[in-house]
Amino acid sequence: MVCVRTSFGVNSFLKQALDPADPVEKVYRALEKIEETRGLNAFITVDKDGALRSAEELKHKIRTGGKTGRLAGLLVAVKDNISTRGLRTTCASRMLENYVPVYDATVVEKIKMEDGIIIGKTNMDEFAMGSSTETSFFGPTRNFFDHSRVSGGSSGGSAVSLATGAVELALGSDTGGSIRNPAAFNSVVGLKPTYGRVSRYGLIAYASSLDQIGPMARDTLSTALLLQVISGGDPRDLTTSSREPPNYVEEAMGGARGLRIGIIKEGFMNIDEKISAKVYDAIGVLEKIGCSVEEVSFPFLKYSLPAYYIIAMAECSSNLARFDGIRYGGKRVEGKWEERIVKTRTEGFGEEVKRRIFLGTFVLSAGYKEDFYMKACRVRRKIHDDFKLLFRDFDALATPTMPVLPWRIGEIVSPLEMYMMDFETVAVNLAGLPAVSVPAGFVESLPVSLQLIGNHFDETTLLKLSYAYECETGFTRWLKTG
Ligand code: GLN
Repeated sequence: MVCVRTSFGVNSFLKQALDPADPVEKVYRALEKIEETRGLNAFITVDKDGALRSAEELKHKIRTGGKTGRLAGLLVAVKDNISTRGLRTTCASRMLENYVPVYDATVVEKIKMEDGIIIGKTNMDEFAMGSSTETSFFGPTRNFFDHSRVSGGSSGGSAVSLATGAVELALGSDTGGSIRNPAAFNSVVGLKPTYGRVSRYGLIAYASSLDQIGPMARDTLSTALLLQVISGGDPRDLTTSSREPPNYVEEAMGGARGLRIGIIKEGFMNIDEKISAKVYDAIGVLEKIGCSVEEVSFPFLKYSLPAYYIIAMAECSSNLARFDGIRYGGKRVEGKWEERIVKTRTEGFGEEVKRRIFLGTFVLSAGYKEDFYMKACRVRRKIHDDFKLLFRDFDALATPTMPVLPWRIGEIVSPLEMYMMDFETVAVNLAGLPAVSVPAGFVESLPVSLQLIGNHFDETTLLKLSYAYECETGFTRWLKTG
């Protein structure tokens, strides 16, 4: 398939990736952009010196005819729960306000090896717990299209850094929707890979059986390129798969004709009609370019939310035990060791993180484990199996990414109401499947996105659909025109 209508066509894409403009100048321009848009609060730490150093090194390499990597000259923003050697990594928490890792996450190592330039660390919900980037110790990130609204979360800073044009690529992490949700709220592409496709080594864990790092970008091919760079087996993360990743960029251009899409009926129930109409329009575009479309039922979808929150909280209560002021986190406090732990954790964690540690400890406690945690695990298995049945008949499944438009900062105060916002996204993580959020247009000048869910290790189909849709609609222009 030759894509002629995209505003960021194949040729310009490859040219940009292979033949960067002066990288040092590019870094200066990006720093200016970050400064101009500082009010949106997308970055926690901007690494001016590090980015300029990488750019100088790359410039030297180009000048001396050295071999440049696949991300040569592309600017990358990294979510602040992904470890970067020598660069503060806070998880947007007071607990890690001054934490500087001594090693790089595998994904960061890979980006550096391919000559990508990391410009800074992006804002997020504290320890990635939230759906709006409002629980950050450093204050909320604002929505690109309406600054009084949330950016989505938890990878809000990564999405906004893309929307402003400061960077071309960003890393997010997705435990229950944190890549897809902010991608949807800021009209960029965000892909949550299959569990095990991308190494989690160096990702500060929230819920290890659900967490996955993934790529975000303004267009499909850039998303595919970053996925290609970060995917693959890692001896330091034994949950990764050793199966060789395909050439995602080439595969994405393979065409979507003939792909079978199942529309999950329950994903469109009880949501704003204007949002569902927009998402149906997007599916209509895919039908027009030769996909077959059929409605399917997934009755267990409604149980994914309670199962997810029980499992995520259980795992977080265990993962966050290491932040005790002795092994990790906090400042030096005086007193007996119990007192030091209590003081560190009381002062270091925000309200939402504490709530989850309490609830997670409760659902794992003797006497309640069977009723909550074990039951949630059984629901998880059932959701996994139901998805597998659907993938016998379909190549991809479709729902809206978010059931609502970006809300006003501070508008949602009830934790339960906030959890409900993840209704469309969490089932994917329970089943370990890949999913992509694709910009689908606007309702009341605010962005709406289509979520496409794929079978395990079939990111390719999702990229094909996203790219075909992008070619047809030219959605990358939406960031310019709003
Ligand atoms: N909003 C979900 C939660 O708070 C998902 C967060 C995530 O994906 N990191 O758990």
